[in-house]
Amino acid sequence: MKNGINQDGVQKINRVLIIRLLREAGSCSRADLARMSGLRPATITNIVNELKHIRLIREEGAINAGRGRNGVAISLDTSYYRVVGVRVSRKYFLAGLFDIAGNELESSRHEFAEGETPKERFGRIQEQIESIIEQVKEEKVVAIGIAIPGPFFRNRDSREEGFEFQDWPEIPIERLLKERFGVYVFVEHDANAGALGSYWQMNVGQEKMLVYFSAGQGIGAGFVNGGKLILGALGVAGEIGHMTVETNGILCKCGNYGCLEMYCSSTVLVNRVNKKLTKGNYSILKEGSDLDKIGKAARAGDKLTVAEYERECSYLGVGVVNIMNILNPDIVVIGDELARILPETMKECVLKVVRDRMNPIVREHTDIHIVGDEEDMSLKGAAIVAIEGLLDEPIAFEWAEEQ
Ligand SMILES: [Zn+2]
Repeated sequence: MKNGINQDGVQKINRVLIIRLLREAGSCSRADLARMSGLRPATITNIVNELKHIRLIREEGAINAGRGRNGVAISLDTSYYRVVGVRVSRKYFLAGLFDIAGNELESSRHEFAEGETPKERFGRIQEQIESIIEQVKEEKVVAIGIAIPGPFFRNRDSREEGFEFQDWPEIPIERLLKERFGVYVFVEHDANAGALGSYWQMNVGQEKMLVYFSAGQGIGAGFVNGGKLILGALGVAGEIGHMTVETNGILCKCGNYGCLEMYCSSTVLVNRVNKKLTKGNYSILKEGSDLDKIGKAARAGDKLTVAEYERECSYLGVGVVNIMNILNPDIVVIGDELARILPETMKECVLKVVRDRMNPIVREHTDIHIVGDEEDMSLKGAAIVAIEGLLDEPIAFEWAEEQ
C-alpha cells in the first residue's frame, strides 16, 4: 500500500498524533480519536485504516462512543512489532526487548571488564543484540535504540559518522548496527532517553513539561516539552553536571570551577567515602569499597555513608532549584544509580533544598519523583527513542514487512 504513506508532512504528524493518543488512552473509538485530536472523522478513518494495515493498531469489540452510540475499540497492537533498547554506561550496558508501546518484555545487565577495549565492548553489545533478535520468533524487530553517555554531539547531516564518549574512539554505532542487523537504528544521549522514558512511563500529557535528572556516574538532564525533547543547537542541552554550584569550588575537567558533578555523582560518592575510610572514620565498610557495597552500607544505616549520600543529594537539590528557576517544569524526575541507593532519603534532601530556596508557588506546582528500583529509564528511553523515530517514518513498518 503506497497511497497515504509517505505522502505529506501533515499526514505524518497526524499519524504520530493518533499513535500517541492511543498510547495515552489505551483503547478508544474513532469518535474519541476525532475529539481528542481535533481531526475530521474522515481523516481519522484514513489513518486508522493505514495503521491497521501495517499492524500498528487493532480493532476489538465495541466500545461506548458516547451519546449512546457504540463504536469499535481501537488500541495499539503490541503483539507484533518489537524494538531492541540498549543503554551503554561507562561501566556496564543494559539491553532489552520492548513492544511498540514501550513495555519492557525482558532485559539484562552486562558489566564491562577492566582493560576491555572500546571495540571489544562494542562487540559484546552487538552479540547481545543478536541474541535478543534470535529469540524473537513470530514477531518482528524493526529498530534498535541506543542510549549513550554524553556529551553526544548530534550532527544531523552526518549522524552516522559517529560520536565520541570517554575513551571510546569514534565508533559509527548507527551505521555499524544498521549494516549488521538491517534495521533502523536511533542513537540518543542517555539523559534525553531517560527523559523520554519517564515521560512515557508516567503517561505525562503533551501539555506538561518534564525534566529528567540522570544521577549516575555523571549528572545530566533531559527536557521534554510538548512531547518533544529540547535538544539545543548542537544537541547537547542538559549538561547540568557542569552547572556551577560552588563559585570557587573544585576545578572540573571541563575547565569550570565548582561543577555540580564534582559534588554529586556515584563516582564522587565512592571516592569520598573511601577517602574518609582511609582517614580512619568509623564505618561498617572497609577501604576500597565499590558502589554496590556503599549502597548496601547506606541501606543498613551506616552513618558515614548516609551522611555523604545526604550531602550529595543536597547538592543535587541545588541543581534542581536552578533548573526549576530556568524552566519551570511541571514534573522533575530523578533516576539512575545514585537515586537507587536510598530514594526516600534523596527525596527528603532534595525537597528540603527546594523548600528552603524556591518560590513557594512554583514549588507547590512541581511534582518531584525519584525513580528507585523500577525500570532503568534510560534503557526504556532507548527503546522509546526507536519507537518515536519509527513513528516519524511509518514507511519503516512497511519496509520491515518486505524484509
Ligand atoms: Zn564541569
